[in-house]
Amino acid sequence: MRSEQHEPKDVTSSYLALHPGPSAMTGPLIVVSGPSGVGKTTVVERLLNLRSLPMRRAVTATTRDRREGEEEGVSYHYWSREQFQAAIDAKQMLEWAVVHGRDFYGTPRSEVDPHRIAGTGVVLVIDVQGAAKVRELCPDCLTVFVVAPSFDVLEARLRGRGSESEERIQRRLATARQELARASEFDHVIVNEDLDRAVAELERLVRDRFN
Ligand code: ADP
Ligand code: 5GP
Repeated sequence: MRSEQHEPKDVTSSYLALHPGPSAMTGPLIVVSGPSGVGKTTVVERLLNLRSLPMRRAVTATTRDRREGEEEGVSYHYWSREQFQAAIDAKQMLEWAVVHGRDFYGTPRSEVDPHRIAGTGVVLVIDVQGAAKVRELCPDCLTVFVVAPSFDVLEARLRGRGSESEERIQRRLATARQELARASEFDHVIVNEDLDRAVAELERLVRDRFN
């Protein structure tokens, strides 16, 4: 009978890929949250484009419609309700939530675990419900809440993006009011007024996690 000690190495690594324990995750996990339209994606993309740290953004999954200019597998994975439910049932999601009361959004584990095992930092740009779940699953993650300098500025940014109908804008503003009340749950709050300053602040916080 073969003892476990003689297991070939690739079996161990494929096991780890399927069932990674916390100690296998050397790349830090960064959760960036905050109201829709506050500039989370812009700040995170700017930081990643600096290429100053080995990190990537997890491409999450959603059942919402694709916006103009968005790309499958880059902005999101656009799934049907059935595909999303199948992934939940197969325990393939790290977390998921119904956001703005209608669409499903969630993080596939495959977007996170293998990269963290390889030492790459992973950024999740997710809503506050998802952030709370990830904090529970991974207490050593860094959680950052991004806010706009005021509610009026937030509304102007949402409208300025020009991607949503009036009904969706109103829904997003209603969600934003509830989300803002949960800012204190996060490790840090960044006010995204000057974009360069917000990017520099996030870079500093993330860099600390690599040290
Ligand atoms: P989120 O990912 O939080 O929903 P986006 O990154 O899509 O938000 O940004 C919403 C809009 O605000 C975009 O049009 C973006 O260009 C703009 N924006 C982001 N950050 C700033 C900033 N610091 N100053 C002015 N406009 C900004
Ligand atoms: P949008 O439709 O504007 O792209 O995103 C709406 C909200 O869903 C944003 O707050 C965004 O951060 C959040 N979101 C995106 N992906 C995920 C995810 O995988 N999980 C959760 N919980 N929220 C997500």
